[in-house]
Amino acid sequence: RVDADPPLGKLLASLQNPTLQAQGSAVVYWMRMEDMRLSDNRALSQASAQAKLDGLPLIVLFVFSPQDYVAHDRSARRIDFTLRNLRLLKYSLAKLDIPLHTVVHSPRRDIPPYVISFLQSVRATLLFANIEYEVDELRRDIRVCELAKKQGITPTYVHDKLIIEPGVIKSQQGRPYAVYSPFQRQWLTVLNADRDKYLAGLPPPEANPSSIRDHPTYRTLFDSPIPDHIDGFECADRDQMTVTWPAGSDAAREMLRKFLYTKSRSTHVGLSDPLEGGAEPSDKRSRALVYKEQRDKADRDTTSRLSPYLSAGVISARECVRATLDLLGVKNVKADRDSGVGMWVQEIAWRDFYTHVLVAFPRVSMGRPFQEKYADVKWETNQAHLDAWKEGRTGVPIVDAAMRQANTMGWMHNRARMIAAMYLTKDLMLDWRLGEKHFMEQFIDGDLASNNGGWQWSASTGTDPQPYFRIFNPYSQSEKTDPTGDYIRAFVPELRKVFGKDVHCPPPKLADKLGYPRPLVDHKEARVRALRRYKTPGSE
Ligand code: FAD
Repeated sequence: RVDADPPLGKLLASLQNPTLQAQGSAVVYWMRMEDMRLSDNRALSQASAQAKLDGLPLIVLFVFSPQDYVAHDRSARRIDFTLRNLRLLKYSLAKLDIPLHTVVHSPRRDIPPYVISFLQSVRATLLFANIEYEVDELRRDIRVCELAKKQGITPTYVHDKLIIEPGVIKSQQGRPYAVYSPFQRQWLTVLNADRDKYLAGLPPPEANPSSIRDHPTYRTLFDSPIPDHIDGFECADRDQMTVTWPAGSDAAREMLRKFLYTKSRSTHVGLSDPLEGGAEPSDKRSRALVYKEQRDKADRDTTSRLSPYLSAGVISARECVRATLDLLGVKNVKADRDSGVGMWVQEIAWRDFYTHVLVAFPRVSMGRPFQEKYADVKWETNQAHLDAWKEGRTGVPIVDAAMRQANTMGWMHNRARMIAAMYLTKDLMLDWRLGEKHFMEQFIDGDLASNNGGWQWSASTGTDPQPYFRIFNPYSQSEKTDPTGDYIRAFVPELRKVFGKDVHCPPPKLADKLGYPRPLVDHKEARVRALRRYKTPGSE
């Protein structure tokens, strides 16, 4: 059941898109948290072209909204990553004589009037922005449209985040897909039919006339510094995050290049600089090429680690897909399951899928299960278990390694996310919304749609077509995901000297001796409880 009146439809209906003609003294591009780049950025590119056409300077605005960050459980790491990227962007824009003005604004309901007054203060009548698909953000943008109309301002909002925008991929009955596989097949068909439209690259903005710097109004915009931090979102491990996740599109491109063209490091993903090391270019066994066989291994560096960059828009998904076509030397996107690169492109399609789900079924972001029939599943209330899970003290090594990886890196391998999420919801029988919130608060790549989709999939309340009795056994998952045990040994120091099968399930006496906790629950018993509660929601 599609939710009634999804707000994206209302926003698109508010845009009249007349022939644009600026009447003021500037054109404004409103940069958002998911737009942290200059090239291949549709709203910025349109704003720049319009400014050139009208002979006006371009101004970039960024509004920090701490209330939204609280409402969306944004992590301090993600806010700090935004600040680090903005500093680089401000510098690059200044070289083009384009000012980037940032402001911290509260309360969030006053952001629409603030933006309109900002446009009036720089005498701009045209506003460009990329669409943010979360409900609160869409409502904010609808409000901007309402206020803009009264003031003779024309907003233009464009699709940019995804390869294919929401609303295009539909079933034969004209409905949005609720299951990934048919969505992905249709996604490929649509993409290959109009590759240029969906994958076209865009250059960075053109430079403003340098005389803009002499204008007193603009000079204050150039001079406004990027804040050191946002109150309430101080990043305690900023120095480490700066090493583990360097900011900027150049870093993101280099990570992509390494993923596509160089061999995997033989170590697990750690805190080190992701751009260090790796074999020489053009290795035939690059991570991308062996992605299909290797991607579920957490004990090696097997995936791209691009999620923080894609979530923040430091690199576009389009650029990632274009680069895979270059790697293969082909024109069509062939996301077949048998090739590593095809498999990786399908992961990019998952990213599109979950945002399409969010747009068609916005209730999922309001704490509702995608499958309403599971709304009454009975969850445990157990703060001690929740804390143990968060801190990586469950006594199940693979879960603890995963959670400690999140705590130290602000990121987690995909398979580890699934195991940790499944353990919270099916073994500890704790509400998936608690886990969803915790991940958002920890991760540097926090993305509402992908995180919600991943959690609901793992909790069997979401789009997984398999029934609720998909319950991972964390011990056998551990042997498949971490066959060497290196991942566990890296993140769980108590087990650093344990090898063989014991590292996946330490015998109680050994665990006691090493100071490692005993399991919180017995997996077999927990499984029976989960099956009972899902089978008959509401039952004990
Ligand atoms: P790669 O394997 O290299 O994949 C490339 C890109 O494809 C990723 O960077 C990501 O943008 C996209 N992608 C891959 N898998 C998925 C997926 N299952 N769903 C959506 N997009 C995907 N991803 C986020 O970006 N932000 C989140 O907040 C987030 N929360 C998650 C929570 C749970 C419970 C689960 C199970 C998954 C979550 N994911 C999330 C998806 C996935 O785990 C990460 O995108 C992936 O681990 C990032 O590592 P990578 O960049 O090396 O991925």
